[in-house]
Amino acid sequence: MTRSEKQATPHPPATAEFGYVKPRGPAHRYPPAADVSVVKFSVGPYDNNVYVIRSDGQALVIDGAAEPDRILTEVDGLDVTAIVQTHNHPDHVAALPRLVEALGCPVLAHPGDPMPVRADALGEGDRLTVGSAEVAVMHTPGHTPGSLCFLLGDHLFTGDTLFPGGPGNTDGDRSAFETIMRSLDRLFELPDPTRVSPGHGLDTTLGRERPYLEVWRARGW
Ligand SMILES: [Zn+2]
Repeated sequence: MTRSEKQATPHPPATAEFGYVKPRGPAHRYPPAADVSVVKFSVGPYDNNVYVIRSDGQALVIDGAAEPDRILTEVDGLDVTAIVQTHNHPDHVAALPRLVEALGCPVLAHPGDPMPVRADALGEGDRLTVGSAEVAVMHTPGHTPGSLCFLLGDHLFTGDTLFPGGPGNTDGDRSAFETIMRSLDRLFELPDPTRVSPGHGLDTTLGRERPYLEVWRARGW
């Protein structure tokens, strides 16, 4: 077994169970819980996931990433209360100017990650409501200083902070890596069944990834 095989977390299969979507492909609709439903679809050249949380005719968009017209189609007929940003990397924000113009809704982001449009500040412990649903905000720096994760019940939206197989990229920056691992330590305080929906690619659960947390820490990326 090679070094990389030993260190690799088994990757989830590309199935609906793990929220498989492909760029310009159909949206994935998670099984609705009570009066809340979540939709996932992939946009843009970097296969960015956009999530829409909807409840009682209202919607919250996670990451105005790209392809604004596709995002607008997915929220058609809904009252979009806000667009919330996991972070400010260019592939996650490209649709924001057009979305703000079309929807007139606020953009909410951590001040540590300046946005290309006017944004209102969001931080650790904030709570957002959409219809009858509540979303808790966690500040999880490391990938960027202002990275945020969003928790809806047992569904965690992690942006580029946590993926199947490890933390997001910290560009070989030792201090940023230590910061992101501290953020992961906080995320992993949540229970095993917590579904992890990242900013790119497949979902996973905290339980699937938990055995590898120390492997990632030891390998340093
Ligand atoms: Zn990023």
